[in-house]
Amino acid sequence: MLKRITLLFILLPISLLAQEVALTRVEPPFWWTGFKKADLQLMVYGKNIALARISVDYPGFKVKKINKVVNPDYLFLDMTISPAARPGIATILFREKEKVVGKYLYELKERKKNAGKKGFSSADVIYLVMPDRFANGDVTNDNATGLTEPVNRDNPDGRHGGDIKGISDHLDYIRELGMTTVWITPLFENNQPKYSYHGYSITDYYKIDPRFGTNEDYVKLGESVHHLGMKLVMDMVFNHCGSEHWWMKDLPSPDWVNQWPEFTRTNYRAGTSTDPYVSAYDSNLFVRGWFDNTMPDLNQRNPFVRNYLIQNSIWWIEYAGLDGIRQDTYPYSFRDMTAEWGKRIAEEYPWFNMVGECWMGYPASVAYWQKKALNKDHFNSWLPSVFDFPMFDALSRAFNEDESWNTGILRLYDVLSQDFSYPNPSNLVVFADNHDVNRYLDTQKNDIRKLKMAMAFILTTRGIPEIYYGTEILSTSGDYKGDGTKRRDFPGGWQGDPRNAFTAQGRSVEENDMYNFLHTILQWRKTKEVIHTGRFCHFIPQDGIYTYFRYNAKETLMVIMNNKEEAKIITTKRYDEFLKKHHSGTEIITGAAIKDLSQLTVPGKGVMIIELKP
Ligand code: CA
Repeated sequence: MLKRITLLFILLPISLLAQEVALTRVEPPFWWTGFKKADLQLMVYGKNIALARISVDYPGFKVKKINKVVNPDYLFLDMTISPAARPGIATILFREKEKVVGKYLYELKERKKNAGKKGFSSADVIYLVMPDRFANGDVTNDNATGLTEPVNRDNPDGRHGGDIKGISDHLDYIRELGMTTVWITPLFENNQPKYSYHGYSITDYYKIDPRFGTNEDYVKLGESVHHLGMKLVMDMVFNHCGSEHWWMKDLPSPDWVNQWPEFTRTNYRAGTSTDPYVSAYDSNLFVRGWFDNTMPDLNQRNPFVRNYLIQNSIWWIEYAGLDGIRQDTYPYSFRDMTAEWGKRIAEEYPWFNMVGECWMGYPASVAYWQKKALNKDHFNSWLPSVFDFPMFDALSRAFNEDESWNTGILRLYDVLSQDFSYPNPSNLVVFADNHDVNRYLDTQKNDIRKLKMAMAFILTTRGIPEIYYGTEILSTSGDYKGDGTKRRDFPGGWQGDPRNAFTAQGRSVEENDMYNFLHTILQWRKTKEVIHTGRFCHFIPQDGIYTYFRYNAKETLMVIMNNKEEAKIITTKRYDEFLKKHHSGTEIITGAAIKDLSQLTVPGKGVMIIELKP
């Protein structure tokens, strides 16, 4: 101990004299001309960089203000980019006295043309992919240099080696199935020693994890997705970062993250965010508590954190030509920041869509977070889309329960009847499962009929359907417990897999039946405006039969679900307001012609989707 102290005393005066100044990184690493907002805030990081003098010599690109923070290793440069600034490369010089100690070639790129672009919408169906578990297209990146967790396919919670190449290789499969949008769980660098595969512990917001590929690979993936007429949704996380994020070892200021005397977990009670009776204690713990000890909670009250995260999203939208963002743990962040984030993106990309994970059980709570909600506190999130978690809950119960006054298929009816809460119900993302919950089949005692009912429902109700990869081949979570087993490898995605379920030959009879069921509805849905934008009307469920109609000026569609085990013959007099002008139809799952609509036979635990004809 004594020796170390002596050594410190010897070293200290020398280091003070030398005052080493160095430049390590500038973020965002480049930007664009032609944005509506002329301001850009650069985070500059490097040893004692706050001691440096800054100069930029580039027409229309100026330093407006230099912000210093507690840690001298950071500077935040407020830049302005005038409308006259041309694309090109600006040189930012960092000097200590007269000596140049750092030089950064800052590129201002020309913006992509966005004319005619549309965000994902109710005309789309989202295929949700967990990249580590979908397909390993490049085994050479499985154990990238400098990243701590090696690949281990035997560990359900370990890295399995899937990557961007694996997704690119199977885009044709995704499109052929009938999907129109791909949501990939986060691809950012997660240099964490454990559980790094899931991607939600980001260690570099500007870098695709090398085990998934490069930034350029991601941009190319976006181009391929667009070339096939599909859309790309990026999964982002601004509530927390990974504990191994590079800045955690040298924070710009202590309040960069929400600090606690000791590790303090959030209560995960998202309902506190809308509860009028919430205690300050619970509310504070929800927003400022950490999601996990490996997930430090970012403090979006700090204006530099706020700018950093907002600019990061705009950077990826522009760089990768995104069509949408899925924002993780949305209400866990400081809400004023989330609203500013949504507003800034909407200003630059009015057509863009973003969906927030607001995991709450009641429509009123979820609706609070949708853009233009009529909230008593006048909060407007600017978030166009939210996940329909109340419907997810209803779907997990509806087909398992016995029919009664308030159970069974009535669950679906009840949730839809609450749609008055939402400013825009057709911009809800509807789903039966995702990467965070048990696979739908597991919750339905492996009854494929119930899975088909759920899929037919989400594909014909209002909103934007999301289907989790593997649903089409009856994937289950199986015997294992824990998150890893909800995210099993897609068979055939790895060299040497005993079968390739990406092909009909590699699928079992039952799997092909499910694949074909989805394929039929998905392909048909693509051009069905009546589902994309048509109106919705339903009838109170009776004795397990739930009937609803989708209609517009051109077309009417009838969906009937039977939640009873036995087939039922129903007389349709009750639906006269829709059927009086229609006398026949086509059932689209079977292709069967229906000559008489007055009486219909609905299979037990079954569903019919009927295009009505005069
Ligand atoms: Ca790989």
